Amino acid sequence: MSGNVRLYVEHSLGAGQSVTLSREQAHYLFGVMRKGVGTKVSLFNGQDGEWQAEVVEAGKRVGILTCRVQTRPVQMPPDLWLMFAPIKKARTDFIVEKAAEMGARRIVPVMTEFTNAGRIQRDRLQAHAIEAAEQCGGTFVPHVAEAIKFGALLDHWDVGRGIMFCDEALAGGSSSLPAVLAAPAAILIGPEGGFSPAERKRLGGLEAAQAVSLGPRILRADTAAVAALTLWQQALGDWDAA
Ligand code: SAH
Repeated sequence: MSGNVRLYVEHSLGAGQSVTLSREQAHYLFGVMRKGVGTKVSLFNGQDGEWQAEVVEAGKRVGILTCRVQTRPVQMPPDLWLMFAPIKKARTDFIVEKAAEMGARRIVPVMTEFTNAGRIQRDRLQAHAIEAAEQCGGTFVPHVAEAIKFGALLDHWDVGRGIMFCDEALAGGSSSLPAVLAAPAAILIGPEGGFSPAERKRLGGLEAAQAVSLGPRILRADTAAVAALTLWQQALGDWDAA
C-alpha cells in the first residue's frame, strides 16, 4: 500500500530541515496509520511547496521528520476570495472545505442582515480548510478570516477587487462574467434568506460589484458557493492551464 500521507505543518521546509509534528499528527501517523521510522510522508506549509520527508523519530505523542526533496513547488490559487453568509454548522463547514478544494485564496464569513447563524469558530473552520488541502493535494491553505459585518466589509472595500455578487433576484439572467471580475476578485454569497433591500442598494452603488446569476434555479447557499467558484475558475481562474 503506497497510501501517501500528506500533512500540513506550521514550519519552514527545506532540504535537511528537521520538522516536529504536533501531538495530534504524531498520534495520527503512528497510532492510527501505524507508520514508523523510515516512513516517507509529504509535508507542505502553504509556502514552500510539497516536500518528501522521512520519519526519524516516532513516539506515541512525538514525531520528528527530516525533509529530503521538494516534490512540488507551491501552487498559489488565483487571487479569489469567497465571502459568504454563514448558515448551519455542517453546511458552513462544507462551504469552507469546498472553497479550499476549489482554490480560493481567502475565505470570509460575512454577517448580513438576514444571516441567522450563531457565532463563527474561526479556528474550527481553519482546521477544515487545512484538512481539505491535505486531502486534495493542495500546496496552499486559504486563510479563514474572522467574521465581519456586511457594512464594515464594504466600508473599506478596495475598488480594485471586483465583487461577483451572486444575486438570487437575477436567477435565470445572464451568468457571463464581465472582465471587471478578473482577479483580484471576491465572490459574495448570501444567506438562506437572501440579501436585504438595503444590501442590494449598497451593492448596486459599488462600482466594483457586478450582479451575476447562477442559473434559472434558486440554489441553497452551499450549492451556490460551489457553483460560483466553478463558474469563476472556469471563466477567469486556473482551470485552463494554457
Ligand atoms: N431565500 C432566497 C434565496 C437565497 S439562496 C430567495 O428565495 O430568493 C442563498 C444565496 O445563494 C443567495 O443569496 C445568492 O447569493 C445565491 N444564489 C442562489 N441561487 C442563485 C441564483 N440562481 N443566482 C444567483 N445567486 C444565487
